[in-house]
Amino acid sequence: MEAVNYELEIFNNRCMPSAMTVQCFAHLDQDIGEALPYLNAVLGGIDYVKDPPSVTFKVQGKLMTVHGQKIAINALKHRNEAVKIVDWVLREISDAWEKRDEIEPRYVGIGKPMIIEILKLLPKTNCRECGAATCMVFDTQVAEGAKDASNCPPMQPDFSEKLTAYMEPFGLNN
Ligand code: SF4
Repeated sequence: MEAVNYELEIFNNRCMPSAMTVQCFAHLDQDIGEALPYLNAVLGGIDYVKDPPSVTFKVQGKLMTVHGQKIAINALKHRNEAVKIVDWVLREISDAWEKRDEIEPRYVGIGKPMIIEILKLLPKTNCRECGAATCMVFDTQVAEGAKDASNCPPMQPDFSEKLTAYMEPFGLNN
């Protein structure tokens, strides 16, 4: 794959014209679709579409979808932020493509956090120290990214670490 160049298109949020953030499209000068299953394997996309290929990530609190010839990113503060993220993901794409012989391509996303997996790590005493009425309520708050392991004081440190590691790929607390 040759070095990928792009043209940046910045525009305001069409649904909320008053929003303080902008969105961008980076229009690529070549089709990188073949590299997307490798990028997905390396970065763990939350959603993957096979045909035509695209992969969606949560990056620094923004949603980014990489298509064959376009990268779309929302909730950007300004143009420089868009350039930084696009340059970063193009480096990741190039690295993944170069190392493709060592990478198992992945054609599905990691999906959403599973309530049952989070619940396994909670103390399940319903003590309310987290401010939630029950551990189950806290569980759903964690799954949405509104709370994290640090909000449950009675949680054992090793379970806390496991919960943080489980939630990390979903990027919800960025
Ligand atoms: S602080 Fe932890 S143990 Fe207590 S209710 Fe909240 S989630 Fe459950």
